[in-house]
Amino acid sequence: MKITKVDTIALSIPFDLGTDKPDWGDKFAQNLDTLLIRVETDNGLVGWGDAFAYGSLRAVQAAVEDMIAPKVIGADARDIIGINHLLQQENHLWGRYGITLFAISGLDIALWDLAGKAANMPLVQLLGGATTKPLPAYASLFRYGDAATVKRVTAEVAAAGYEHVKLHEVTVEAVEAARRGGGDKMAIMVDTNCPWTPVAATEMVSAMAAYDPYWIEEPIFPPEDFDALARLRMETGVRLAAGENACTSFQFQAMFDAGAVDFAQPSVTKVGGITEFQKITALAETAGVQIMAHSPYFGPGFLATLQLAAALPKPGLIERFHANLAANLMGPWVDPKDGYFHIPDGPGLGADPDPDVIARFRVTP
Ligand SMILES: [Mg+2]
Repeated sequence: MKITKVDTIALSIPFDLGTDKPDWGDKFAQNLDTLLIRVETDNGLVGWGDAFAYGSLRAVQAAVEDMIAPKVIGADARDIIGINHLLQQENHLWGRYGITLFAISGLDIALWDLAGKAANMPLVQLLGGATTKPLPAYASLFRYGDAATVKRVTAEVAAAGYEHVKLHEVTVEAVEAARRGGGDKMAIMVDTNCPWTPVAATEMVSAMAAYDPYWIEEPIFPPEDFDALARLRMETGVRLAAGENACTSFQFQAMFDAGAVDFAQPSVTKVGGITEFQKITALAETAGVQIMAHSPYFGPGFLATLQLAAALPKPGLIERFHANLAANLMGPWVDPKDGYFHIPDGPGLGADPDPDVIARFRVTP
């Protein structure tokens, strides 16, 4: 099963939030971007992956086309571990983390999709799990920057059946508003996206603790300051989550060695794909850290997350961006039912991207 072709397809899909108060306008504008990677083999199979590309679509596309594709044409697609290692080694001089690893992730996901298709079984079965395990979802809200909107949307997601909600806010006022909107039983996570120095983080996390957050996510900049996270965790007693900005098992090993987190958040489209994600889950299990996969996206990487999580003894909660997209690229699997995701049971990732959606929202030839 030789790789004969690697194509990239850039998509930009509009969405709405049901509110006019988003505070992330410059980051996401009105669209969510996806970079699809399509791998063709000499036995006629096609595998799909995607590389993290929010705010970086053209750069990630160029990385896949220039740094990844030429190195794998003619390789045996079954040699997934070997190809991943080769791509990491041959690309190390352009940076071990960030866009280089996002590009490798996209290719790796496509190769695992091919492996499942060649075996005619869903990926979860190749990984030692079953498709019958529904996974609990949480609603991951945008940053609204407005406490009244936070309260209203939290009340809406509670009414829709979610028992867990995640804010992307940085004020105590917003966390209080979510507690009021969601009620006492709602588990409220607070993703702050690396705003504070260690000293400021101690002050803010201590103040937010009054509203019983289930976890606080990435309170310190830079995100790789694992020692500072560990100190914050000990000082405040608040559960911390991090990992969406870490790549490869090496960075997660350092995170676990420092005692930085209660919850680790590897992102399959960023860490180095399914191959690296599996190494990270093994390290987390050994360190006694719960996996809470980072997955606020809607392409093949989301289905890969479901397949990976379903193969874990403790899958954790599955993140679902709380946005209505103009079209559904991967079918019904990205929408939870009664608060749970179900695992696609088709071969590989379980479903292919919809060609009509690709045709409608493709942004480059
Ligand atoms: Mg986050």
